[in-house]
Amino acid sequence: MKRTTVDILSSYVDALHPIIYINHFDFKVIDDAIKQIGTNARIVEYNNALGLIDFYNKSPMQECDLEKFLKLTLDDGFEQETFLVLKDIHKELDNPKIISLLKRISEDNLYKENYHATIFIISDTVVIPTELENYITVFDIPLPSTTEILDIINEFTADLEIEVEQDIISDIALSFKGLNEFQIKQILNLAYQDGGCIDKEDKLLILKEKEQFIKKAGMLEIVSFSETIDDIGGLENLKDWLHRKAKIFANLDKAIKFGVDVPKGIMIIGMPGCGKSLTAKATASLFEIPLVRLDVGRLLGKYVGESENNMRKALKLSEAISPCVLWIDEIEKAFAGVGSEGGNEVTTRLFGQFLTWMQEKENTVFIVATANDISRMPPEFMRKGRFDELFFVDLPNGEERRKIIDIHLKKRKKWNKNIDSIALINETNGFNGADIEAVVKDTIERAFIDGKITITTEDLIESVRDTKSISSTLKDKISMIKATIEKIDIKPASREDSGVHQYKNV
Ligand code: ATP
Repeated sequence: MKRTTVDILSSYVDALHPIIYINHFDFKVIDDAIKQIGTNARIVEYNNALGLIDFYNKSPMQECDLEKFLKLTLDDGFEQETFLVLKDIHKELDNPKIISLLKRISEDNLYKENYHATIFIISDTVVIPTELENYITVFDIPLPSTTEILDIINEFTADLEIEVEQDIISDIALSFKGLNEFQIKQILNLAYQDGGCIDKEDKLLILKEKEQFIKKAGMLEIVSFSETIDDIGGLENLKDWLHRKAKIFANLDKAIKFGVDVPKGIMIIGMPGCGKSLTAKATASLFEIPLVRLDVGRLLGKYVGESENNMRKALKLSEAISPCVLWIDEIEKAFAGVGSEGGNEVTTRLFGQFLTWMQEKENTVFIVATANDISRMPPEFMRKGRFDELFFVDLPNGEERRKIIDIHLKKRKKWNKNIDSIALINETNGFNGADIEAVVKDTIERAFIDGKITITTEDLIESVRDTKSISSTLKDKISMIKATIEKIDIKPASREDSGVHQYKNV
């Protein structure tokens, strides 16, 4: 247990916070902290399964329900400072009698001079009844910093008397970011059992295990990818912007000391299949940091306060993993209709929470938010200052289509100098990147089936003519996106077509 946790909890008790809701799964860790701050207090514990139990030796003392327990202990705070430690009771928090009893203790704690009782609720699920909102303080145990992780590893290797080079320790310490002390020790044990030592090879194991923990938490997904910035055809303005910001991420320490503000993130709005997701991956690759995806829909819970708690956990986790790219795909679906009449209340609260976090954030989480249709997005989201920049990704212009064709042919080692770019540019008017990729794939497949060694411009044109472009299949959606974009201050992701080639553009 880190000193900071004890300090914070202790300051809450001193400041008469009546209910401290500790969001944690490891009761032992919390018991240790409560013990440290409650040396002069009487500590009484209620466990959902066992009733009243002895806080110190954990032996059951009296089987009873929570209501009876609270009535029994209601006046204890008059006799001596009392801590009521309630474990796993979140399912009881919709019971009006329980709510009233908790409220009565909270009010006595706040307003009666000779009464001092603090309630600790410990559970890995946070449920906050609206009637108790003003009395509850939610506390998340902070995740260990890099220095603290180094201490944990050093302590572990010293206990087992194993020698590990400091370079390796520093290296694996970074991979542990985002995990709690319990999880770090679990992985260290696993690594040690695996080969009887801790070495460079264990980094892979750590990353795999870490991915498992993050997956289990269900809040964020670590996205693996192989795409780089060179896989994007066109979008030159956006790529230039990212290349400049990459210089900051490459020298983060120096940049911060120099007074540079850490980039907050970008919002990429535009046509489907034109490289928005590709850009999120390429950004992480260019900045050389992990890519984690936040799916707001997955945060929604069925209990009061659960969704907000999930959002807090997810944002905290992203901070712990940082520097990282936090990718929020289809952000319009997550926050559509927020603030408008009939908008969902929980989503509105989540949106507010996210906005405040973005506004205040001083961490190295770089947000890439991607969206198609922003007509129902709350306007405050798009206001300058939230994101560093807003980019519009349009259907690729002629030059861009040529580059995209080349990229996909080269990727599959089928590019050759006889391919007539101009003819293809003219034929692919209104195609998006995904359409073009499909054309290349289809042409190569046909060539293979027909026993051809290479592919020609005619082969590609044949596939193009058999492909229905997005401009024909999603005509209305495209016009709607264009109409919305015209109303906001947004930068084009693409550089203007130089028009040196003689071809038609949409
Ligand atoms: P959606 O809005 O439907 O999610 P998106 O803009 O995120 O679409 P991507 O997933 O990035 O689209 O693109 C789909 C695929 O199309 C990519 O995997 C890539 O192969 C190809 N593609 C799209 N745009 C480009 C581009 N500018 N350069 C190279 N390939 C592209």
